[in-house]
Amino acid sequence: MNELTYVQKRFINYVETIMNSGKLSHSYLIELGDSFIEFPFVLLFVKMILCPNNVCNVDCLNCKKCNVCKLIDEGNFPDLEIIEADGVQIKKSQLLSLKDEYQNKSLIGNRRVYIIKDAEKLNPSAANTILKFLEEPEDNIIAILLTNNRYRVLETILSRCQVLSLIDVTTFDVVDDSVVQFIKYMIHGDDLFIYYKQIYETVLIDKERAKEIFSLVEKIFIHYLSCSAQNVHYEQFEFLKTIDSEKLLSYITIIEEEIPKLVYNINYKLWLDSIYSRFVEVK
Ligand SMILES: [Zn+2]
Repeated sequence: MNELTYVQKRFINYVETIMNSGKLSHSYLIELGDSFIEFPFVLLFVKMILCPNNVCNVDCLNCKKCNVCKLIDEGNFPDLEIIEADGVQIKKSQLLSLKDEYQNKSLIGNRRVYIIKDAEKLNPSAANTILKFLEEPEDNIIAILLTNNRYRVLETILSRCQVLSLIDVTTFDVVDDSVVQFIKYMIHGDDLFIYYKQIYETVLIDKERAKEIFSLVEKIFIHYLSCSAQNVHYEQFEFLKTIDSEKLLSYITIIEEEIPKLVYNINYKLWLDSIYSRFVEVK
């Protein structure tokens, strides 16, 4: 195995943080450039999720020891299903047979995973079916969708997945000071309420802006979490060093759950109140 790239290390760090914190989401969208090179990293994540004894770790990237890892690498592990496009599309019938299979098969470990390759190829009726899975997730089933470009995946699907990337992209440049200040208030809990009016009038002026800002904050937190081991920090976010990773993961989860609600015809101020309260509760 060649020396890992920065992005690969970042990915590994992040999945480690997820596993150690026990805050596994039900659905991930992983962006890959070249699946031939990067698929083993996806499988590493899957191994960590499925390992019945919770012993699989970063070293299982090239695991020659564990039986589970071996079966996963060979595509023979019963709690893992991989769906690929049937021609140019992924069809609804493929997803329904997956569902049937999972309902009728007993579980080896504690969880099941299904991987959908080329998630941008989900045809509209397949997309609807997968949305239903993503909206009403079963506790022990984790979805991992793969794509080479997140922007080609349907927005409704994208918004329900936590996005991880194995593609090297600059995640953000210099962030506006007002956003940095907002993040500071956010992680100091009560300050959010004290500066509510100011934040509302200058930063989070409307739904569109809120969507933008919170997506940026999420990106910053994910970036920060995944880089901490290599000490790659942005000067602007030095203060994040004092915040523990569990807390940052909680913020990410809240943002991911709240942002999709903005598409409905909801009262923006009430929405803000509720997301603020959730931030304040994070201890
Ligand atoms: Zn292993």
